Amino acid sequence: MKKLILFGPPGAGKGTFSSQIKDVLPDIVHISTGDIFRENLKNETPLGLKAKSYMDKGELVPDDVTIEMVRERLNKEDVKKNGFILDGFPRNTTQAEALSKMQEIDRVILLNVPRDIIIKRILGRYSCLSCNEIYNKYFMKPKKEGICDKCGSKIEFKQRPDDTEETLKNRLEVYEKNTKPLIEYYKNQKLVKEIDYSNKLPEKKVKKVIGI
Ligand code: ADP
Ligand code: ZN
Repeated sequence: MKKLILFGPPGAGKGTFSSQIKDVLPDIVHISTGDIFRENLKNETPLGLKAKSYMDKGELVPDDVTIEMVRERLNKEDVKKNGFILDGFPRNTTQAEALSKMQEIDRVILLNVPRDIIIKRILGRYSCLSCNEIYNKYFMKPKKEGICDKCGSKIEFKQRPDDTEETLKNRLEVYEKNTKPLIEYYKNQKLVKEIDYSNKLPEKKVKKVIGI
């Protein structure tokens, strides 16, 4: 059973790498704090409404809210049984220290990607309104223009509201200031595996990185 943290700036491909991990470990639980917030926002839950203003600005949702949300998720049976990939958590020292009291971590995987690619990944990203499949206007267009590869419907573009130039600038700043220092924290614990994720990795490499 693996307990992994994915680490890297916005646009590094944490979501994509998580699906690559799930290809080799289908039962591992992918926990993306950003996805959980977005789901709550869509359903207009109190948690979602609380998170909205922060997400719109590209700022961190307050720690008490975020940490409790992760604690609850980590306490579920599927996680206990099959392990997890944390994607987007922890994002500052307070969160990392809270996590260290909840779980032992096997590995922290740091995804490195050049800044110009990060910017294109984020500003070019859109998804299919019907099935949520993600595309990119620079790197990953659907095979048939305007038709979704996955569900076959005519693609109606959906962009994340925080994938704008202004919000991205703030998200990158928050990463530099609050999140990046955590790399040292985990390097001191000898947990960090660093990879270049400019491109998807072959399966053999994925296995090696996660240690199976
Ligand atoms: P990114 O592409 O910036 O990594 P995410 O989908 O991980 O985007 O997160 C989107 C937003 O959700 C963040 O900008 C932040 O407002 C909020 N968020 C996600 N994870 C956390 C966290 N661990 N702590 C605080 N806020 C978070
Ligand atoms: Zn689709």
